[in-house]
Amino acid sequence: MNKKDLAEIKKLLIEKKAELLNKTNNAQRDINSDDINVGDEIDTASQNSDKEMFFELVAGDKITLNAVNDTLAKIEKNTYGTCECCGEEIPVERLKAIPWTRYCIKCQEEAENPKR
Ligand SMILES: [Zn+2]
Repeated sequence: MNKKDLAEIKKLLIEKKAELLNKTNNAQRDINSDDINVGDEIDTASQNSDKEMFFELVAGDKITLNAVNDTLAKIEKNTYGTCECCGEEIPVERLKAIPWTRYCIKCQEEAENPKR
């Protein structure tokens, strides 16, 4: 991978990290402000399902955030761009599409559709 591609990917990762941190903070603030207004039972029930959705969203974002942080650390250590499963280089097009991916397409597909 050339330096220009790597710089571009690093920028994407930093932007994604900022976006995720923002989103996570906003979601947590919304959940906290909900606690102040406790409505009747029906309202509370619908608020609870909203909260569950929020928590799922935040949980998914946290996984992505961890992956983004790991990827930034790998860039610092110059170990970025190879598949963690087979050690092959990941094509730069794939890295630009999902910069925090850990696996090449082949290993990702095998992980998602295990052979029986
Ligand atoms: Zn692989």
